[in-house]
Amino acid sequence: MRRFLAASASFVALAALLASPASAGTPPITLPSSPKGPAAPVALPAGVDPASPYLPQVSCSPIAMPGVVKLRDLVLKTYGEGGAGGIARGCTEGVSEHSEGRAWDWMVDVGDTSERAAAANFIGWATANNGRNARRLGIMYIIYNKKIWAVYRAADGWRTSSGHTDHVHISFSWNGARGNTSFWTGEVGTIDLGPCVRFAGTYAARTNTPRSGPCPATSALLKKTSLGDRAYGRTGTTVAKAQALLGVPRTSRFDAATWTAVRRYQAAHDIPWSGALDQPTWASLSPSSVTSNALAGVTRSEAISYGLAHYADSSIKSGYVGRASLYVQTALGLPTADRNGYFSSVTRAAVQKLQASAGLTQDGVVGADEWQAMADAL
Ligand SMILES: [Zn+2]
Repeated sequence: MRRFLAASASFVALAALLASPASAGTPPITLPSSPKGPAAPVALPAGVDPASPYLPQVSCSPIAMPGVVKLRDLVLKTYGEGGAGGIARGCTEGVSEHSEGRAWDWMVDVGDTSERAAAANFIGWATANNGRNARRLGIMYIIYNKKIWAVYRAADGWRTSSGHTDHVHISFSWNGARGNTSFWTGEVGTIDLGPCVRFAGTYAARTNTPRSGPCPATSALLKKTSLGDRAYGRTGTTVAKAQALLGVPRTSRFDAATWTAVRRYQAAHDIPWSGALDQPTWASLSPSSVTSNALAGVTRSEAISYGLAHYADSSIKSGYVGRASLYVQTALGLPTADRNGYFSSVTRAAVQKLQASAGLTQDGVVGADEWQAMADAL
């Protein structure tokens, strides 16, 4: 059975939140007492990876993650049942780990005897012993036949959910999605809490660096535009406008080529890599659309004076998001498209250039000496 229910993605996160602990208990289908599981490609360590907390979708990055792809291929090969289903999906169909390439739909219909048996073997194997194998794979939760099992609520067993009678939905933690778990590496993994929102109201900035601590403070938007936010999956003239500015085919649909172009543009212009046409991205792509700018009317020399007076005792550096970064970018005279309050590689390179010409240590950090160097160079 290879039916594909696009709408099912919308229900996944909701189902995870609404599931009632009062319905703990029986699995969605009868599970075998000695389930057959896929074989790990490495020798497994004695220890088991920690159970991941629930890590909901926060970014728009619909690219299939390597750990998910590997498990999909292994499961299809191991059981020889069901369709491959989907991994990555658009960001407009409700909150779902599919929008981060962290979920897989294995198309095994509960009404098909052999497909149901394959699902029972995998599910039984993954969830046995408080989810030991699920933890080894970095599986966060599984939904099948109107029930959900979550590694972060393993003690509650199977809880009531909805739908999913023609496929098993498997969501992964970031560590599992990256393939950084013991099932693949032979070493007990840690917990990667995933990307952080940098500007309030935008998608999180995608990163390849695992996170163990809390996210840095979120900054208010420093620029707003007359153009609405658009994410993967949306259609319309606003998307077409962005495609024209990005130089990709004008399909009027936020497709894979557009997503790749947005991602590249963001990387090149010091914008948090959100993968979406958000306000920082629009303000850079289309400066004429800016309707509100936190530093409107502030000249380069005024920004330097302000920095000397207010930030001489601070160290402003890579990763900093907010007004201080916008002052640095304005004081450095960066192009309008690169003045957004996000201190990343473009800003850092400009600071290092200033430091080189002023005979300062090229560490890319803005302090009193750098503000003075900017004043001297003006
Ligand atoms: Zn799914």
